[in-house]
Amino acid sequence: MIDTHCHIDGEEFVEDIDEVIARAREAGVQAIGVPGINLQSLDTVISVCQRYPDYCYPMLGLHPEDVKADWQEVLKQIKPYFQQDGVKPVAVGEVGLDFYWSREFEQEQLLAFEEQVKWSVELQLPLMIHCRKAQNEMVAILKRYKDQLPGGVFHCFTGNELEAKELLQFDRFVLGIGGVSTFKKSHLPEVLPAVVPLDRLVLETDAPYMAPVPKRGERNEPAFVAYVLKKLAEAYQVSEEEMETATNENCRRVLNIKV
Ligand SMILES: [Zn+2]
Repeated sequence: MIDTHCHIDGEEFVEDIDEVIARAREAGVQAIGVPGINLQSLDTVISVCQRYPDYCYPMLGLHPEDVKADWQEVLKQIKPYFQQDGVKPVAVGEVGLDFYWSREFEQEQLLAFEEQVKWSVELQLPLMIHCRKAQNEMVAILKRYKDQLPGGVFHCFTGNELEAKELLQFDRFVLGIGGVSTFKKSHLPEVLPAVVPLDRLVLETDAPYMAPVPKRGERNEPAFVAYVLKKLAEAYQVSEEEMETATNENCRRVLNIKV
């Protein structure tokens, strides 16, 4: 399996990262995508990916919740990281829009997202997109670049059938499905098989957040992506092997992560 979205560089894992990675390998996790969130995190993302080469894959970007008044200056400093020696980013991310907590920097978020969408086109690197309470605004921006975008992941998808369909109009994009799908009240086990084909899904944990059942409330870790795989296999009524093969193939195609 591949955990396409995991903040393994976070301080939550500083103490025991080797054990966390060992458990991930043991559980059958073959690769981990590690998204950057701000300038400081790029160094931890890159160093963790250099510590586990061909296993942890870096993504570079400015997270919408980290977009402040100085976003232009920050993006100017982030951009050169894509060209840095020895760093092979697999995506621009995580980037997007988040109006759930605050709209204080709404305009800045829109502008910073669009700028990073342009990077995706320019560098032909896929997008790892975070979107909360802002799908209309996000879709409007993506539409302007629809034909030029190489693809990407709508990370932590939790929407309904209409929202899924709207996102799937971007044909080189896939939905990232994580722990929420295992929650008792989640409608994802019905929504996804109804409208999302097997070739449009990837797995993720978003660790240390969003731990799946039966680990809900604990610190999440990449090994737990196995619970998401199991849940999705049940929902689609396919074997876990089939779900694993499909999602791995989607990762290869969209994120260029081969296992
Ligand atoms: Zn994230």
